[in-house]
Amino acid sequence: MNVLILGSGGRESAFAWKISQSPKLAKLYIAPGNAGTSEFGTNVDIKATDFDAVVDFSLKNAINLVLVGPEEPLVLGLHDYFLAHPQAKHIPVIGPQKEGAKLEGSKDFSKRFMLKHGIPTAAYQSFDASSLEKGLAYLDQQRAPIVLKADGLAAGKGVLICESIAEAKEELKAMIADAKFGAASSTVVIEEFLSGIELSVFVLTDGENYKLLPSAKDYKRIGEGVTGLNTGGMGSVSPAPFADAVFLQKVEERIVKPTIEGLKKDGIPYKGFIFIGLMSVAGEPFVIEYNVRMGDPETQSVLPRIQGDLLDLLVGVGEGNLQKRSFAVSDQTAVTVVIVSGGYPGAYESGKPIANLNSVRDSQVFHAGTRTSGEEVLTAGGRVLAVTSVQDTLFNALQQATADAGRIYFDRKYFRRDIGFDLIEYV
Ligand code: AMP
Repeated sequence: MNVLILGSGGRESAFAWKISQSPKLAKLYIAPGNAGTSEFGTNVDIKATDFDAVVDFSLKNAINLVLVGPEEPLVLGLHDYFLAHPQAKHIPVIGPQKEGAKLEGSKDFSKRFMLKHGIPTAAYQSFDASSLEKGLAYLDQQRAPIVLKADGLAAGKGVLICESIAEAKEELKAMIADAKFGAASSTVVIEEFLSGIELSVFVLTDGENYKLLPSAKDYKRIGEGVTGLNTGGMGSVSPAPFADAVFLQKVEERIVKPTIEGLKKDGIPYKGFIFIGLMSVAGEPFVIEYNVRMGDPETQSVLPRIQGDLLDLLVGVGEGNLQKRSFAVSDQTAVTVVIVSGGYPGAYESGKPIANLNSVRDSQVFHAGTRTSGEEVLTAGGRVLAVTSVQDTLFNALQQATADAGRIYFDRKYFRRDIGFDLIEYV
């Protein structure tokens, strides 16, 4: 099979690494990819949102399966574009069509979906320009802290946790009346604040059947502990050790099954990954958000624990017979530490030579923001590399991943040395 992966981050590097191990694979292409993905396949200089170019490349290179890494092409309708194309409609695209992608693309849509199908989530109401006054009055009846969410995609920045009702009112006005997040905040979800511990659960579905993938916990803040700005993700651990069999059973019965059934009942076709962001509130799971793709950096700790042929599973998704495919999950623990450019998530410099990549032997190094220049590998983004160690114990995996992240060098490199250490109390 010839496979095309769309995207350029650490997530796509992990997909390329895993799919390159498949006996079913003939040729692997990654568009646009990075310096690391070229170890596993051929990088192609096409943007994932350039639908014409993606379809054209797929037809010319006899692509048999397209795996979409990021959400943007899905929300914009890449899958629908393939289906509407007379020659390309037979090529399976892994990732939902536009309607299903709304689970991530519109917070208001996903909240209505959860309410309709009885899926546990925080209480909420939505407001827009025509109901701003009602929104302010609604806030007067709530207690702080309270959560405001821009309805649309806002590059991970559209969620505000307000410590007072006065602050929430100012922010609601800024989001709706002053377009704080552009068109994304023309509708705002006001949501009850849930207090608990967060984790993510990943599901692969062909629209009828599903497989639960390993759980993970990610680390968003730039600083150690819970300090500093939010980032795309500074590390992850799989499994989330506090998510025991009893908790995961609740997640499957109360959330995963009603989600798949709800999509079917609503006539929404869905082939791809569902990433469910959860809050465990005193052991009871609530959905914080849906994403319609895998997470970055969760993928880098989830895929190394999957024992089996990922490409075979994806073929099952395309063909609608996922139930005939199987895989095992390693009971080892994976820890991923992300190495970033100094200054990230604010301004940072690129083009720094990266040294000692080959000195890492006991972890897998996934490239994210990197590019090659002659023989050199240079930094080319905020999140540069993800270092994953898989070990028998959480503690050993933490130590190994952190030590190996320390071996790699580039000017002004930074990584958190505390990824996963908060979880030791649960094992
Ligand atoms: P989201 O983009 O929906 O994942 O929200 C970003 C982050 O905001 C989440 O990872 C949570 O840490 C936090 N968050 C979102 N919704 C809530 C909520 N209802 N209660 C508490 N924290 C929340």
